[in-house]
Formats: sequence, structure tokens, C-alpha cells
Amino acid sequence: MKNTMQSPEHGSSESPLTLTSLTEALRDQEDRLLPCVHCGFCLPACPTYVRLGDENDSPRGRLHLMKAVVEGRMSPKSKAFQTHIDRCLGCRACEPVCPSGVEYGLLLESAREVASKAGGMSFLSRALMGIMARQPWTNWFMGWARIFRWTRLPKLIARIIPKLQVLHPFRFGLAMLAATSETHLKSFTPKSSKNEKEKNDIIQVQPKGRVALLEGCVQSGLFSRVNRATERLLQVNGYEVVTVTEQGCCGALHAHGGATDSARKLAIANLKAFDSDHFDYIATNSAGCGLALKEYGHLLEHDSKHSKTAYAFSGKVRDISELLTMSNGPKVGGSIPMKVTYDAACHLCHGQGLLTEPKDLLKAIPNLEIIDLPGEEECCGGAGIYGITHGDLGVSIGEDKVNAIKNTGVDLVATANPGCIMQIGAGLILAGSTITAQHPIELLDESYRRAGYYAE
Ligand code: SF4
Ligand code: SF4
Repeated sequence: MKNTMQSPEHGSSESPLTLTSLTEALRDQEDRLLPCVHCGFCLPACPTYVRLGDENDSPRGRLHLMKAVVEGRMSPKSKAFQTHIDRCLGCRACEPVCPSGVEYGLLLESAREVASKAGGMSFLSRALMGIMARQPWTNWFMGWARIFRWTRLPKLIARIIPKLQVLHPFRFGLAMLAATSETHLKSFTPKSSKNEKEKNDIIQVQPKGRVALLEGCVQSGLFSRVNRATERLLQVNGYEVVTVTEQGCCGALHAHGGATDSARKLAIANLKAFDSDHFDYIATNSAGCGLALKEYGHLLEHDSKHSKTAYAFSGKVRDISELLTMSNGPKVGGSIPMKVTYDAACHLCHGQGLLTEPKDLLKAIPNLEIIDLPGEEECCGGAGIYGITHGDLGVSIGEDKVNAIKNTGVDLVATANPGCIMQIGAGLILAGSTITAQHPIELLDESYRRAGYYAE
């Protein structure tokens, strides 16, 4: 492994005042930087370090760069800071293995904010964040994406485009869109729950709680079937589900991409829309969105007007797998004789500490054969739009995941994040595989259909 740790360099072209404003966010986080004892336990867990062997592309190296910026020894505009902070997947695999409890994910968001203010942002990131920040624009964008997907052209074109580096973003983007509709399960829309009366009796006699579901931008735009399945599963398992119409983007893409001000605005809008006093839980079925909601308290910790509400809101956020595995676990469904494997989305297993819960949902399905996936906790290379923007590293990480999945011999890989479904699904499509990437919720929902919980 080469160690090419770069020497901190002074930002001589900037005034101390500019540097102060740019590094303010990071300096704010200095307490979170200090606990690092440079032990290096995090290095083997880091997908970018494992592949590149460069200390600057390790968690410890990136912390070193952040510290250099905080202490004014390095310009946030420097190539080293910009490159290595950008290359981080934000997968948080470095957090659970750190004996000092360094809060790397929160530090990364501050570092990204500093880096993007100093060096700018790619056109693609800026465009996507702009669209996601405005609900009418998101609806318009997703509407056209659905029409294009319906033509089945994305899959066809993605498979015939030559495998050239320059065409990678276009080719992979099309495959990602195609992956959102790939399924091995029957498509169905129940008229109502067959057990409607029984369901209402459960809620009235022994309600488990009143739940509001975060619809999410990508989930509602391209995976509305997963949202509807989530609602059905919650109801069958005794929860009351309430629709919150004014909700918007959770801001995860913005927070992870360095647009923290936009992320805060979106968070405040959701605090108002949800008014969490009215709910026992706020449910999510997207690992990235769920983590963002659970971190609203941190995001708004210096906002005296919203901080308390944000922490209360975050305290009520639960992934769907947490809600369904509470108490006695989910109701057992009908048989699905199929081979599946489970890939742990980073922001669920590393970010939220949920590894067994999603698998327990799959275990509630009779005759479903669950094959272990080697490296199930390693990032798939999705990380927002990393698979598109980092054609080299994103592809290499993604190919390792796709090969591991293919080697299991399954029909379907279950993963609980839309970005991972799109990244893995795109890789499978481009590899000519028939394996589909789908949400575990879809499998349990199909199992309940087979058990007769829904009237079709
Ligand atoms: S494991 Fe934690 S303490 Fe050790 S080098 Fe990595 S971040 Fe620092
Ligand atoms: S978040 Fe992931 S890619 Fe980034 S430093 Fe940590 S382990 Fe490495």
C-alpha cells in the first residue's frame, strides 16, 4: 500500500477572513475531530482506501486533511482537500469500527460544505439538488422519468451504448432508471384489505401507534409501489397510517453533497409539515432519507428556534424494519419459494445500526431461501450519484458487489434504499443478469398477498 499523505499547504491566495468564513463549519465540529487517536482500525473498512491504497483516501487521512483546514494549515480550495473529500462515499463504514467513536459522517457533511463553498460543485450535483429542493420541479422531473421508463428504451439503449469512459454517465444513468421497474414479483394493486374489519379491530383494541410515512422524492417518484406496500404492511401489523400531504424532500442529498443551507431549509419545512406531536412514529423505507431525518436534531442544533422540535422529531423516526420487528415481529405471510440474498444499505447498517431487522422481515416469509452475501455490509458504490459521477471508482466498487451477488445464484437481491436498488440494479442490467434488486418490503408485501391479506 502506498502512503502518499499530502503535506498541508497554505492557502496563500486567500485572505484570513475568507478562510475563516469557509472553515467556520468545520471549526464548529472540532470536538468531533479530536477523539481520533490515529490507530488506523478504520482503514480496512474503507472501500476507497482498500481500492486505492492511498492514506488520503482513508478515514484517518481525510480527518487529517479536515484538521489541517480547521487549523489554517491547508486551503479548502487545495486539490488535496477537494479531491479526497469528494472521493469519500459517505458510507460510514468507518464509524462502527472506530474505538474512539469519531463521528465521521457528521464531520464529512461539514467538510463537504466547506469544500463546495470553496471549490464549487459539479453541474450534475447542482442541477439534481436544485430539482429536489422544489416539489413542483421534482414532480415534473419524475413524471418525465416515468414516461421514459415506460417506453422500456432506457434498458435497451443502456445495453447497446459502447462501454466508453466518456459515455459512462449516460449509459449508467439509463440503466439506473431501468432498474427501478425490474421485478420478479407480481404487480398488484389491492382494492382494499380483505381483513379490513379485522385490521380496524386490531387498531381500536390494541393500537401499536399512529404513523406518518415519509414519501421521499425518489421513492414517491419512481418507487411508489414500495410506499404503498409499506402502508399496507403497517396496517396489517396494527399501525394507523396517516398521510402528510405537505411534506417534501428530506434534504439528504443536499446535506451529503455540501449544500447544508438548503438541507436546513428542507428540514424546517418538514418539521412544519409533519408536526410530530400528532404522531407516535415517523416511518421511512429509504435508508438514506431515514438517516437524514434521524439527524435533523444535529443539522439544526444551532438554530434556537427549531432545535428542540428537530430533536423531538428525530426521536420519533423509525425505519419500517424497526417498526415491523418491534414486539412480536411481523405477521407471517404466504410462501415464496425463491432464492434471495440481502445487501445491507450503508445508511441502514452503519448509519442507523440496523442489520438484523431487515433480514427478520425476510425470515417472516415461508420457503424464502436466504443466501448470505459475502461483503453484505460493504458499500455498493451508489452513494447518491457517485456511481455516475465517479466512473472509475464507483464502477469498480459496484462491479465487486454485482459479482458477489451473481455468485450467490439468487433470483433477487433485497436492499432497503432506492439509491442502492438503482446502483445494484443498473450493474446487474449492464452485466446481462436477470437478477433483480428490490426492497425487502416488496417481498413481505407479496407474501401477505399470497396469504390472503388483501382483496384483489
Ligand atoms: S479508527 Fe477512529 S480513532 Fe482510529 S484512526 Fe480511524 S477515525 Fe481515528
Ligand atoms: S465514509 Fe466510507 S468511504 Fe468515506 S472514509 Fe468512511 S469508510 Fe471511507
